[in-house]
Amino acid sequence: SSTIIDGKFVAKNIRGEIANEVARIKDSASIVPGLAVILVGSRKDSQTYVRNKRKACEEVGIASFEASLPEDCTEEEVIKHISDFNNNPSVHGILVQLPLPRHINEEKILNAVYIEKDVDGFHPLNIGRLAMQGRDPLFVPCTPKGCMELLHRYDIEIKGKRAVVIGRSNIVGMPAALLLQRGNATVTIVHSKTQNPEEITRQADILISAAGSPNLVKGSWLKPGAVVIDVGINAVDDPESARGYRLVGDVCFEEARKVASAITPVPGGVGPMTIAMLLSNTLSSAKRIHGIK
Ligand code: NAD
Repeated sequence: SSTIIDGKFVAKNIRGEIANEVARIKDSASIVPGLAVILVGSRKDSQTYVRNKRKACEEVGIASFEASLPEDCTEEEVIKHISDFNNNPSVHGILVQLPLPRHINEEKILNAVYIEKDVDGFHPLNIGRLAMQGRDPLFVPCTPKGCMELLHRYDIEIKGKRAVVIGRSNIVGMPAALLLQRGNATVTIVHSKTQNPEEITRQADILISAAGSPNLVKGSWLKPGAVVIDVGINAVDDPESARGYRLVGDVCFEEARKVASAITPVPGGVGPMTIAMLLSNTLSSAKRIHGIK
């Protein structure tokens, strides 16, 4: 039977390692890493993500800064807050919670973040460097980085393997494919216009699914022994749950675990890794800015 990749456990260990390192640089160099989050509007899900990020920072000793702007604010106001954080020496990481309201140009906003503080890794220069051979981004986007860290911590070899990524978004699918390629896998991307995706996924030694579509990946879509990383977080109706819904991934977990050699559950797989990688990026940013080994 397959290994269940325990992202919750791995993320907890990583947060412990980060807390130790934060305490060490506080003692040795009097540096406190700081993360600034900019939230525009009042989306419930975004508010929850921002709150979780603040809590996670507190737990490891990272200082958090927040700017909350109304839904109808202007681009200039958002950029003003970004440049304040760019110039604030106590801030080592700046994150703009996405999605932004439609009247605000996302590209313009992401461009305004100093690449040295771009802990989400969404600045076009960081993405560009991720895509180029012989170049390194200053930061790698947190969710795909979390996927790679899970593969690494479970000793799953990437080099020479066939990897398939479902999804090509800027924040998950595309950077995940680039990271697998940098790890010397042979990578294919499957997206919403791909015909007969199951013929492609069946060749995958490693499958990362980031489609946002519940029960998309059936057991029959998998090569026996494949490693399956399920990034999807989908709410499906569940009258038996108090909330009326529950969260599932893209993969039919019960079917897939019979075929896969290792698989992440949802929840408790990639989800907890994302915030752990954000904390890790913020810590490395503070160390790089202050020249700490
Ligand atoms: P998105 O909607 O921006 O992109 C989805 C991608 O999947 C698109 O490229 C689309 O072409 C492709 N796709 C959609 N349906 C498909 C199908 N039926 N077959 C093949 N390809 C299909 O979404 P996103 O922001 O990349 O997020 C993807 C999923 O990951 C969502 O469920 C999201 O909630 C989840 N997510 C999880 C985390 C985490 O921390 N675990 C972080 C970000 C996103």
